Amino acid sequence: LSQSRSIVDIAMVNLDWFYNLHVSKCQLKGKVALITGGASGIGKETAKLFAQQGARVVIADIQEEYGQVLANEPDGSSICSYIHCDVTNEPDVKNAVDTTIDRYGKLDIMFNNAGILGAPDRQIAKSDKSNFEKVLSVNLMGNYLGLKHAAWVMIPAGQGSIISTVSITSSNLKGATFTYECSKHAVVALMKSTAIELGKHGIRVNCVSPAIVATPMATEVFEMDEEGAEEVNASCAAFNKRVKLKANDVPQTVMYLASNESKYVNGLNLVVDGAFTALPY
Ligand code: NAD
Repeated sequence: LSQSRSIVDIAMVNLDWFYNLHVSKCQLKGKVALITGGASGIGKETAKLFAQQGARVVIADIQEEYGQVLANEPDGSSICSYIHCDVTNEPDVKNAVDTTIDRYGKLDIMFNNAGILGAPDRQIAKSDKSNFEKVLSVNLMGNYLGLKHAAWVMIPAGQGSIISTVSITSSNLKGATFTYECSKHAVVALMKSTAIELGKHGIRVNCVSPAIVATPMATEVFEMDEEGAEEVNASCAAFNKRVKLKANDVPQTVMYLASNESKYVNGLNLVVDGAFTALPY
C-alpha cells in the first residue's frame, strides 16, 4: 500500500510540474480578465482560451444558466467564474468590475464583447425608434460603461488592455442593418478617443472586427432577415469560403490584443475577415 501511495505522490508531483511548465508558457499567465457577453459565441470561446492560457476569467452576462455552466466546466472551474451583469445597467457593470477585483485582486483585461443585432431595419422611414435605442444601449452604452469602469480601476494600476468586439460593418457597410452599423461605428470612435487619453496611463484600447461568425446571433439574423442573409451570402460566395468564421477563430486575435505581445498596439480596429473588407465591391 505504502509503495503504491508513493507512486501516486510521484505522479502528482510530476502532474504539478507539467501544469506549472504549461502555465509558465501561457500568454496570459497571472492576468485577470472580465468578459462581457461571455456566456455564448465569441465571448464564450475567448473565456475558454484565456483560461487555458493562464488567466483568471470572470464571465459577465445576462444568460445565467449558460454562464454558470461555462464557469463550472472541468477545465475552467477554479479559474473562471460567472457574474450576472446587464451591460446597459451602470450599477451592474460597476459591480462586475468590483467583484472581479474582490475575487482575483485586480483587472488586467476588459473585453467589452456583449452585443445584439436588433430588428432588421432596412428602411429608415419605417424603422422603429425603440429598436434603435435598444441596439445602441447594448452595443454602444454597454461599451461606454465597460470602458468607464475598467478605466477607473486601471488608471491607478497604471496598466491594462481594453478590447471591444465591433464588426466589419464598422469599416465596411456590407449586409448589416443601419442601426447595428451605426452602433459599431460609434464604438470605434469611442475606442480611438479613449486610446489617446488612456494611453498616457499605460492602458491600451483596441477593437476586434470579425466578419460573419457562426454564433447564435448570426443564426438568428439569417433566419429572420432574408434580405440581409442573401446580400451577405452573395458577397461571401463571390469571394471565398473562409469568410464564415467559427466562434473559435476570433479569440486568438483577442488574446493578442490582451497580451503583452501587443504592448505597442493601441487605438487599432483589428479586422479578422479573410480579406472580406479588402474587396473592392
Ligand atoms: P452571441 O449571441 O453568441 O453572444 C452574445 C452574448 O452577449 C450573449 O451571451 C448574450 O447573452 C450577451 N448579451 C446580450 N445582451 C447583453 C446585455 N445587455 N448585457 C450582458 N450581456 C448581454 O453572439 P456573438 O456573435 O458571440 O456576439 C459577440 C459580439 O460579436 C457582439 O458584440 C457582436 O456584435 C459581435 N460580432 C458578431 C458577429 C457574428 O457574425 N456573429 C460578427 C461581428 C461581430
